[in-house]
Amino acid sequence: RADRYLLLRDKPAVTLDGVPIRLLGNIELAHEAQHCLDRGAEGVGLYRTEFLYLNKTADPTEEEHYEAYRAVILTLGADKPVVIRTLDLGADKFSSLSSSVAEEKNPFLGLRSIRLCLQRLDLFKTQLRAILRAATLGDVRIMFPMISTVEELRQCRTLLNEVKEDLLEEQVPFKADLPIGTMIEVPSAAILADLLAREVHFFSIGTNDLVQYTLAADRNNQQVANLYNPADPAVLRLIRQVVEVGKRKEIEVNVCGEMSGEPLYVPLLVGLGLRQLSATPRKIPEIKRVIRQLRTDEAEQMAQVAMQLETARQINGYLREQLRRIL
Ligand code: PEP
Ligand code: MG
Repeated sequence: RADRYLLLRDKPAVTLDGVPIRLLGNIELAHEAQHCLDRGAEGVGLYRTEFLYLNKTADPTEEEHYEAYRAVILTLGADKPVVIRTLDLGADKFSSLSSSVAEEKNPFLGLRSIRLCLQRLDLFKTQLRAILRAATLGDVRIMFPMISTVEELRQCRTLLNEVKEDLLEEQVPFKADLPIGTMIEVPSAAILADLLAREVHFFSIGTNDLVQYTLAADRNNQQVANLYNPADPAVLRLIRQVVEVGKRKEIEVNVCGEMSGEPLYVPLLVGLGLRQLSATPRKIPEIKRVIRQLRTDEAEQMAQVAMQLETARQINGYLREQLRRIL
């Protein structure tokens, strides 16, 4: 079965009515960029750089960051995009750093991700320098995780500008005009998408956290797994709203949570208007297969029906039925 999907590698991800859907891969380690190419992804839609920190006794240096990014870019080639997400440490992702962070009762609501970076400017700036430098080698885009307010995004942009000035002063080569994006993975960010759109070139919806925070259900807690569902109508309304803002403000919207790697949800996401999905490389061939059997008008109709339903269970049932019909 896997081999049959691999035959799809060199075929385009395009719907029956000719609409291209950009498929990108999610990676955690530099060598996985090759897996993206092997499975037919058009680039890396999410590079989770915190894995440079995990299981290390010391924080990575600027050179270590740079070398990892360079390896990814060299693997992909200069024409394929890589979205480098800045450190998303804390909560479920720990490292050498955790010992220096005070213990928290609610780590998922605490000092994680961009919040930590905005307090640990030494770490953050080291990474930003490496990203700006690596960007001279290929199509690099930078993305900030866990943004929940407009101020945070503005702070990130200010810091990025400060780092550019430093590099300029030091006469270190870097690329100044790389695209900037934000994850939309906290409900406040989805609600304020129109305001955040003024600050960035693209959005990437992180459904893993968006589902968790929308339904107040820990993504790793089996006891509340019944609540944790990407097809929950509350989550779908937020996704729909973000896609609509993207259309209106003419900025790209991607989905990079596990939801986009589920064949079940692909027709719904396309029907809601998404034209870009980023998933674990292993899932890319299956997703492509669904896309190649889909018509966008049909997908739009499905999304419309799904959005009228009242529970995740009904929506999942409907989508399963539709997927069987399509494949
Ligand atoms: C997400 O939250 O959907 C996401 C892609 O980020 P991570 O899984 O790394 O938290
Ligand atoms: Mg996340």
